[in-house]
Amino acid sequence: MFSKVLIANRGEIALRIIRACKEMGIGTVAVHSTADVDAMHVRMADESVCIGPPPASESYLSAPSIIAACEITGAEAIHPGYGFLSENASFVQIVEDHDIKFIGPSAEHISMMGDKITAKETMKALGVPCVPGSDGGVPDLADAHRVSDAMGFPVIVKATAGGGGRGMKLARTKADLDVAFQSARSESKAAFGNDEVYIEKYLTLPRHIEVQIFGDGKGRAVHLGERDCSLQRRHQKVLEEAPGPSITPEMRARIGKTCAEAVAAIKYSGAGTIEFLFENDEFYFIEMNTRLQVEHPVTEAIFGVDLVQEQIRVAAGEEMSLRQENLVINGHAIEVRINAERLPNFTPCPGRVTQYHAPGGLGVRMDSALYDGYSIPPYYDSLIGKLIVHAPTRKEALARLKRALGEFVIDGIETTTPLFHALLQEPAIIDGNYDIHWLEKWLSANG
Ligand code: ADP
Repeated sequence: MFSKVLIANRGEIALRIIRACKEMGIGTVAVHSTADVDAMHVRMADESVCIGPPPASESYLSAPSIIAACEITGAEAIHPGYGFLSENASFVQIVEDHDIKFIGPSAEHISMMGDKITAKETMKALGVPCVPGSDGGVPDLADAHRVSDAMGFPVIVKATAGGGGRGMKLARTKADLDVAFQSARSESKAAFGNDEVYIEKYLTLPRHIEVQIFGDGKGRAVHLGERDCSLQRRHQKVLEEAPGPSITPEMRARIGKTCAEAVAAIKYSGAGTIEFLFENDEFYFIEMNTRLQVEHPVTEAIFGVDLVQEQIRVAAGEEMSLRQENLVINGHAIEVRINAERLPNFTPCPGRVTQYHAPGGLGVRMDSALYDGYSIPPYYDSLIGKLIVHAPTRKEALARLKRALGEFVIDGIETTTPLFHALLQEPAIIDGNYDIHWLEKWLSANG
């Protein structure tokens, strides 16, 4: 086992990883920018190293600074968290070239799944059902029209290098296609330096269902059911739950087995998420994320596992402790993402937290790096906390969420908590009957 791990991240996820390490008796090294001197992850780690100025490009994304921090402190492994360098294959290569262990999959698997066209082709070949669409990239407008006419509108033009909802454009009719195609390409070129796009049938009322998988890197893999992350704004998840209210045990077993077998076949190592759109009882693969997800705690809650500790064990070369036959769902879990944002426009709202009180009690988990008097810097993501509740049934989980939100105090800044108070009154949320467009429609009607 490692004796010291460096956490190449900040905020709640850095704390999450530090906590996992502490319980395993592993020393922890935090890295931070000059804007994060007073951050909780710096205080909670055994050691810390300042790696640069506030902009992430010069600190949290700086491979040389992070490698140097490992060398100075003698850390043997790096946990990347999510975001930042977590899905950067060339970073993984640099790490391994320095004889440091990257806690995550191989550079090869990250590149394979980071390119969405390659990911889709790989998954299709492994028997995973995919959204109907172009065979690979679509080089020009004439080809875009040919593919879309054959499939029928609406279609969605997507960047192969895309992520975070960028480089994705909808064409409802043939008349929209030229603009959608050109703007997806230019947006992708600007954001990712790559203008290759592909086209998919646009599903009109799907749910977003994602399957958590875990591989040992030697050809054994398990699945940990699904999460429903349909509640989205601008393709960003807002609330997640597990198990999915629309998924039957038979569907779960079938898609879970397909996913576990697919990742076992490529000898995938560590945690990963296979994302699907789910419509008319069918699953359609959209992408695979080769890292820990923000919403992993709902899966941990219902299966009673620690995914971060399992990542560390497998990266250290120990046997994967997860066994499919032992993975039995217990109850229901819901996570809400608390962002430092001002409603109704979700404008980022950094600043000083003058009072903070986290909810607690049975079945309540608050993952956050906030504390009284903390100043949220303006440079990073606005996610400041995740409230996760777990209860025997979905109905009880909703009641627990309402109770926990009622205890939550955060003064000095504005957050997205009022949104969840309002959503918990909605019959569609109470009944679990919402698709990926539901929240946008609700926001325009209730904004
Ligand atoms: P990103 O990597 O940018 O998050 P994804 O491929 O995961 O992109 O898609 C993000 C979201 O975009 C999905 O959760 C869904 O809401 C929407 N989306 C993507 N592909 C389709 C499609 N073929 N039909 C309808 N909606 C889609």
